[in-house]
Amino acid sequence: MFLAQEIIRKKRNAEALSKEEIQFFVKGITDNTVSEGQIAAFGMAVYFNDMNMDERIALTTSMRDSGTVLDWQSLNLNGPIIDKHSTGGVGDVISLMLGPMAAACGGYVPMISGRGLGHTGGTLDKFDAIPGYQTEPDSVLFRKVVKEVGVAIIGQTGDLIPADKRFYSIRDNTATVESISLITASILSKKLAAGLDALAMDVKVGSGAFMPTYAASEELARSITAVANGAGTKTTALLTDMNQVLASCAGNAVEVKEAIDFLTGKYRNPRLYEVTMGLCAEMLLLGGIAASESEAREKLNRVLDNGKAAEIFGRMISGLGGPADFVENPGLYLPESKIIRPVYAEQTGFATSMDTRELGLAVVTLGGGRRKPGDALDYSVGLTQVCALGDEISKDKPIAMIHAQTETAFAEAEIAVKKAIHIGETRPEKTPEIYRYIRNEDL
Ligand code: URA
Repeated sequence: MFLAQEIIRKKRNAEALSKEEIQFFVKGITDNTVSEGQIAAFGMAVYFNDMNMDERIALTTSMRDSGTVLDWQSLNLNGPIIDKHSTGGVGDVISLMLGPMAAACGGYVPMISGRGLGHTGGTLDKFDAIPGYQTEPDSVLFRKVVKEVGVAIIGQTGDLIPADKRFYSIRDNTATVESISLITASILSKKLAAGLDALAMDVKVGSGAFMPTYAASEELARSITAVANGAGTKTTALLTDMNQVLASCAGNAVEVKEAIDFLTGKYRNPRLYEVTMGLCAEMLLLGGIAASESEAREKLNRVLDNGKAAEIFGRMISGLGGPADFVENPGLYLPESKIIRPVYAEQTGFATSMDTRELGLAVVTLGGGRRKPGDALDYSVGLTQVCALGDEISKDKPIAMIHAQTETAFAEAEIAVKKAIHIGETRPEKTPEIYRYIRNEDL
C-alpha cells in the first residue's frame, strides 16, 4: 500500500519512482482517490525533476491501461495493426490519405484522432465537415469498418484513457503541459490504447509546431520512440517541417477536398506527398508489410496510382455513414464560404518565411477552429492556394485565397495572412520536408 503524498514527496526530492508506485498513483487519478491538488503537485514535481525512461514507460502503460485497451485478436485480421500520430500542425491533412494508403497495402488502421487544439487543425473536425460521417460510432461499427475496409478514423470514446483526460485537464491549468515526460505519456497512452503493433510518429519542427525549438522536438521524438518501443509497440519518430502550411490549404472542408485531389491524383502538393510517403512507408516497414523503404514506396505509389487508396477512402466514408459518392462528387456535400477572394502581398519578391502558427490562428479566427472548448465550427472557412516558401510573389500572384463568411472576417484574416507571410528579395534555400528519422536502433 502506498500513500499519494509519499510518492509526490519522493519525486519532489528527485528520486526515481518504482513501477508499482506509478501504477498506484495513476489508479488514483482514474478512480478519484488522489485529489486534484495531489495530481497538480505530482505534475509539477515531474516537471522539475523529470522521469527516467523506465518511469516514463510505467506512466505510459499505467495510463494506457486506465480504460479499455482495444484488442483485435478476435477479428483474425490478416495484417498488422498500424497507425500514425502527429504532434499537430497547420494544413496537416496527412491522416486522410495515409490511413487509406496503408489499408490498401494490407495494414489495418484503427485511427483514434482528436479535434483541433490551439492553432492546429484536428483530423476529427475535418471528418465532421462530411455530412453523415460518424466520428463517434459504437465499437461494433468501428470494428466492422476496420475489418471490412481496413481503416476507420474516429474520435476518442468515453472509456478510453480516463487517466489522461483528468491529468491533462489539470496540467493544462497548472502550467505543467510542457514536460517531455508528461507529454510522452499523454500522447502514447492515447495511441497505444488502440492496440497497435506499430506506430509512426510525426513530430513537427518549426514556426507552426507545438514544441518551441528543433532541440525540444528532437528530445520529444527520442522520448516517444524509446517509451513506445519499451511499451511493446514498434515505433519510429520522424522530425518533419512545420515552417510553412503543409498542404496548399488550411481549414476543414478545404483540406478534405485537397485529400481527395491527392488520392485521385488530381493534385499532389510535393511537400505533403513527401511527408505522407515518409510516414506511411515507415508504417509498412514497422508492420512487416514491406522489407525496405523502396519496396514500401513502390507499394504506396501503386495504390495511389491504381485508385485503390481513393476507393478505400470512399468506402471508409460510406461505412461510417457518409455519402456513397463522396469521392466522386465532393462538391455536392462540402460546404463553401460566401466569400472566396485572394490576398496579395504589399511587396513583390520571394516568400522567405511564414509564421505558421499565426496562419493557423487566422483559420481559428475565421471560425474554422475553437476559441474555447465546445465552440461550433464553420467547416467551410479557411485558406487555399497558400504560397510555398521560395515562391516568387508578383503583383498579380496572391499569397493565399481566403474563404470567409463575412467581410469583417475576411478583412481580419487578410491582415493576419499578410503579416504572417514574409516577402524578401532573395529566394530562400529549400528546407527538407523530413529532417530525420529516430528509430529504436538509433537510440
Ligand atoms: N498533446 C497531448 O495529447 N498531450 C500532451 O501532453 C500534449 C499534447
